Amino acid sequence: MASEVVVVVFGAHPDDLDWGSGGTVARWAREGKEVYYVLATSGENGEDHLNGRVLPAPEMAELRQAEQRQAAAVLGVKDVIFLGQPDGKVQPSLAFRDQIVNVLRRLRPHIVVSLDPGHWAFDNFRLYHPDHRAMALAVYDAIYPAAGTATYRPQPDEGWPPHKVREVYFTGSSHPDTYVDITHTIDLKIQALSCHRSQITNPVALAQHVREVAARYGERIGCRYAEAFRRLDVPQ
Ligand SMILES: [Zn+2]
Repeated sequence: MASEVVVVVFGAHPDDLDWGSGGTVARWAREGKEVYYVLATSGENGEDHLNGRVLPAPEMAELRQAEQRQAAAVLGVKDVIFLGQPDGKVQPSLAFRDQIVNVLRRLRPHIVVSLDPGHWAFDNFRLYHPDHRAMALAVYDAIYPAAGTATYRPQPDEGWPPHKVREVYFTGSSHPDTYVDITHTIDLKIQALSCHRSQITNPVALAQHVREVAARYGERIGCRYAEAFRRLDVPQ
């Protein structure tokens, strides 16, 4: 069955995407949108907080990829793609932009969800992690004009035709202007986040935090729970 709308959600590390837009992703998947997750890294240099240990990078990558695939399945995501960038050392390089251009041309999304490259306040170490900033810039630069321009040839060029994304939903924005009602999918969001077992020390506090943040956004549009985005149309 051909889907009406393809959505690609970009993130730097496993769990970033579930935090930023898990409720919206679950809602869109339910509505019949075809959603893909694309992650710069596999979070291989993170710690296993559950067991208080540091695993060798290949083992950690395997663990966190498995957790991310499980979380994505909870939300109805069709596939999860790992780009193999080094955790903690992502750069908004031309090579990385080209890797993303190939992904965009292959998956051909109408909607991209990504971290906001604007309004950097540097008032939150987690939000403004160097990998997040690099990913935000690389995705922004890949969408326009690169992916949609025939004369832009990525290296290596996988041979996909150019593709123009229609709209972008930015997560982690300090100036959100678009809210998605996730009242009916917040439980799935919490369930997805709970799949990242190596990153969670207190599942009860996690659920409470997710509900508090979503309730604050929900108030702005008169619903119980919402996620916040800054939305941008891409020139066609
Ligand atoms: Zn992250």
